[in-house]
Amino acid sequence: MNQEDRENELLALESILDSATFKFNDSTGRLDIFPQLSISPIKIHVDLNCGTGNDDFPNGELRGVNFLPPYELNFSLPENYPASESPKFNLSCMWLSTSQLNKLCRKLDEIWNRNTGNVILYDWYQFLQEESLDFLGITDILHLRNEFPSATNDSRINGASVKSQSRNEFRRAIQTTLNYAEILPMLLKYDREKCRENFITAIFACNICFEDKKGMDCLQFKDCGHVYCKKCISSYFEIHITEGAISSLICPEPECKTTALPNQAWVVKDAVKQHLYDRYEKLLLQTTLDTMSDILYCPLVHCQSPVIIEPDATIGQCPSCSYAFCVHCKLAYHGVSPCKIAAREIIRLCKEYEEGDHTKKMEMEKKYGRKVLRKALDDKATQEWVDSNTKPCPGCNAAIQVSE
Ligand SMILES: [Zn+2]
Ligand SMILES: [Zn+2]
Ligand SMILES: [Zn+2]
Ligand SMILES: [Zn+2]
Ligand SMILES: [Zn+2]
Repeated sequence: MNQEDRENELLALESILDSATFKFNDSTGRLDIFPQLSISPIKIHVDLNCGTGNDDFPNGELRGVNFLPPYELNFSLPENYPASESPKFNLSCMWLSTSQLNKLCRKLDEIWNRNTGNVILYDWYQFLQEESLDFLGITDILHLRNEFPSATNDSRINGASVKSQSRNEFRRAIQTTLNYAEILPMLLKYDREKCRENFITAIFACNICFEDKKGMDCLQFKDCGHVYCKKCISSYFEIHITEGAISSLICPEPECKTTALPNQAWVVKDAVKQHLYDRYEKLLLQTTLDTMSDILYCPLVHCQSPVIIEPDATIGQCPSCSYAFCVHCKLAYHGVSPCKIAAREIIRLCKEYEEGDHTKKMEMEKKYGRKVLRKALDDKATQEWVDSNTKPCPGCNAAIQVSE
């Protein structure tokens, strides 16, 4: 009887799910489960201090995504399943904390306990897909609390979470992120890839030639959503860039003011020939870079695409190569933990500050702190100072403190 129930269950799962989300071999298998969002886009909040009663998120990132990576449920079916034994399983995910995953594991136990004797995998699947986020209280905002592993080996954080878990639970709930700071960039990247995947396979009617085209042959203006085929938009852009009128690189839709500049730089890059793109970039640089503090160039030497920085964000993510970086230190994004400014960088900053005019000095003081800059200037001759005073980055949440 067991055997028959099991086989029927697996056949049923196979018929509903595709082979990428359901794998089974012998008595072990794996389900990839995409939890449904009750509100889309869901906002991702990264903050060391969130959940401590402060509701208006003064620090940290708040970014929307439409897709979250799946949970992975690995299971094996024991001899006596489903008669008396439940499947052995572990549940892994990169964006839930171990304690959240443990909650889900216990809920799966509960579902099994209510249904002992019956096959259970589909019930589990359904719960995880349809109800798990609500169950965890995740509706409009996913808080990435610092219960995740952190790059700095903080025994206080890790120690606390280990202690509260029984051994058994700790093994079942698998938090797959190695480093807290990696989660947001990974989520943003996943979301963008998913959006892109959906886009390239969809069919669109070009707003210029009115032909139906596959998404992969089209370009979409991000803010207004208008779609054109690459052929039409390329010739449209090329004319404007050749004329040097980049400020008129707006969406061709009448009345639509969405601009291809600066936050559509990728649209232009995709659409026009390389020498025209180079020209576009030069024009972009001349006309807007001085006034737009929200464009940075990708720090990776081989890439250097323009990257739009959202207001008050500390993360920049290159649309072209996906590199996620701290907007202050330009190194790989490190969450809200302070960034190390390299000794070389401090020396450069001192020089820049010393030689800067009044406006420049004010600007730098605003960014790094007057006291810090002065002290750095006083001490810059001493290499030890540099070594012992690598300091937190102002944009990465913590105030700069130079030990006296
Ligand atoms: Zn939060
Ligand atoms: Zn067209
Ligand atoms: Zn438009
Ligand atoms: Zn890049
Ligand atoms: Zn930084």
